[in-house]
Amino acid sequence: MKRILGKTCIVTGASLGIGRACALRLAEEGGRVALFDVLDDDGSALRDELRASGHDAEYWHVDVSSEASVRAAVDEVAAHFGSVDVLVNNAGIAGINKPTHEVSEAEWDRVQDVNVKGVFFCTKHVLAHMRRAGAGSIIHLSSIYGLVGAPDLPPYHASKGAVTLMAKTDALLYAADGIRVNSVHPGFIWTPLVAHLLVASGATDLDVARAELGKLHALGHVGEPDDVAWGVVYLASDEAKFVTGSELVIDGGYTAR
Ligand code: NAD
Repeated sequence: MKRILGKTCIVTGASLGIGRACALRLAEEGGRVALFDVLDDDGSALRDELRASGHDAEYWHVDVSSEASVRAAVDEVAAHFGSVDVLVNNAGIAGINKPTHEVSEAEWDRVQDVNVKGVFFCTKHVLAHMRRAGAGSIIHLSSIYGLVGAPDLPPYHASKGAVTLMAKTDALLYAADGIRVNSVHPGFIWTPLVAHLLVASGATDLDVARAELGKLHALGHVGEPDDVAWGVVYLASDEAKFVTGSELVIDGGYTAR
């Protein structure tokens, strides 16, 4: 079934992890995909892989924390594909893992620049195209850390809490334009971000650390990028035409307690 047929989908942070899985699934479901990232080799390789499978894809070097970079790329996507129908605001960083009293201003700002300002810039610049078309779906990758606290990653928690409410505000502001805005809240998903976080936290055996992390989830294991990608496909598709301002939790039961 082609659930995304005819839609142009921008996926930020598309080179690795959850973004890569989203791009693959959106393309499989008939979407044209615009890949935004700063990792050009991985992003170009994904574009080539998608094209080899018969999908329509292009890669742009975009640092989402730069408004000029975002604005130019979004306009190029619209010119290249003819529309911008879906935005997956996935690019994100975990940032420094220190208690609040040890975090520097620069460490704080770096996380907000990518995770919050990046979402703002991408959303701001797709809106003109979506409003003209009278339709669109914008999906913010928040986190379980945008719903509940944990005693780690203070700048990251703040950033993910921010994008949760940015989705609701824009859902209300742009509903009359036919634009839906939702947030997705994954539990721990096995990606380079999580592997690096575990290593930075002192893990020496990644298999053991992964199993320990899995125990935080009712289902007893961490998730896979596709677990999130299918939720993103749903929100991007017309199956979700009555869904806006909502929080889609994909966390193996982490927040059910
Ligand atoms: P990842 O580190 O594996 O991949 C992130 C991608 O974003 C990379 O390709 C990276 O190059 C890109 N990126 C980083 N900064 C960028 C920038 N300034 N401009 C453009 N691209 C940039 O991360 P992931 O685990 O796949 O996470 C994806 C999103 O999901 C993030 O927003 C993350 O916070 C969120 N999330 C992840 C998990 C998890 O457990 N993995 C859980 C909850 C939420």
